[in-house]
This record gives sequence, structure tokens and C-alpha cells, in this order.
Amino acid sequence: MMKALIVVDIQNDFCKGGALEVANANEIIPTTNQLIHSGFFDTIIATQDFHPADHKSFAANHLWRKVGQIIDLNGLQQVLWPIHCVQGSWGTEFTQGLESDKFDKIFPKGTDPEIDSYSGFFDNGKLKSTGLSEHLKSIGVETVYVLGLATDFCVKATALDAKTEGFETVLIADACRAVNLSPDDGQNALKAMKIRGVKIIQSAEILNFQ
Ligand SMILES: [Zn+2]
Repeated sequence: MMKALIVVDIQNDFCKGGALEVANANEIIPTTNQLIHSGFFDTIIATQDFHPADHKSFAANHLWRKVGQIIDLNGLQQVLWPIHCVQGSWGTEFTQGLESDKFDKIFPKGTDPEIDSYSGFFDNGKLKSTGLSEHLKSIGVETVYVLGLATDFCVKATALDAKTEGFETVLIADACRAVNLSPDDGQNALKAMKIRGVKIIQSAEILNFQ
């Protein structure tokens, strides 16, 4: 049974000193590297937030709007973010220390300025696939393990889409960190994933048996 590890958005802008820094994000890098090296996974996949500069998820691209406000963007609710992960910038690169040279394939997302993409599988309107599901199915993956940034946005969306796409889906909870716009968002995201059938584990459950 083929197993894939999906490393979600461990990029400079979500880590220490980044434009959209997630608290304690860098703590997950050693665990992620251990999992990459564990030999447990048949393939290592990464998602990469990869926006054009005119992306409409940026508050700066709307007159009179501030970060954190919620707008209607082409019929979808959109949280407005600071400018982050702009194609070609330092912020969009994988964080130093992360063994990104071990990624077998990278799936960029959020490339269309008119729609955001939290999930590594689809944009937020589920209008277009990134090709991730098709790729995993083409190589025979049945189970996906998800970790990364951030629990309450891109990790959650990626795990839920994986489940919907028919993969057995496992979230490695200690290798994720949350944005926590509200303090319980990370915990609530874990609950929401569990209710939808995502299995929640700790990295030790994999690493201690290698
Ligand atoms: Zn983004």
C-alpha cells in the first residue's frame, strides 16, 4: 500500500521572520526532516503557496481594506492577508533547514489572482485541480499523511480534500502549527478533521517504529 507524505507550505513567509509568520512554525522542521528520512513513505510531496503580486487575497490589493478583514471575492468569503509568498520572492522559498531537496514533486497553489487556494488539491472554489490528486492516484498512493502550516487553513483544507478524494488521510498533529486568528482555531481544526474521518496521530507513532 503506497503512502505519501504531503508537506504543506513550509515556506519562509510562514516561518520566523516571514510576512505571515505562524507562531513557533520553525519547531516542526526537525520532525518534518525526521519523517522525510524515516523511509516510511513511498513519496514525499510538497505544496507551495505561490502567488502573483496582484493576488486578491492580499489586503494591499484592495482600497481601504486591512489585514484580517473578510471580503467577498468572486462569491467566496476571503480573509485578507498581508502580502506573502509572492512568486520569485524570498518568502515563497522553502525554509532553510527543511530538506526540500528530498521532495519528489512540488505543487504550487494560489497562482490565479482571482481565487485563493488553501488546499494543495483545489482552489477554494474547487474550480480547478492542481493535479495533486491525479498524480497520487497515478502512482498508486492510497494513504496520505499531512503535516505543515497552518493547521487551521492550508493543512486542514488539504487533509479534508484528501479524504474527499478517497485517500486514507492521516494528520501528523505535532508537525503542524496554527495561525489561531481566534485562540481555539487550531484545536477546532483538529476536531473538524477528525469528524470528517481524518486520523490524527503524533509523529512518534511513525518514528518510534522505524
Ligand atoms: Zn496565500
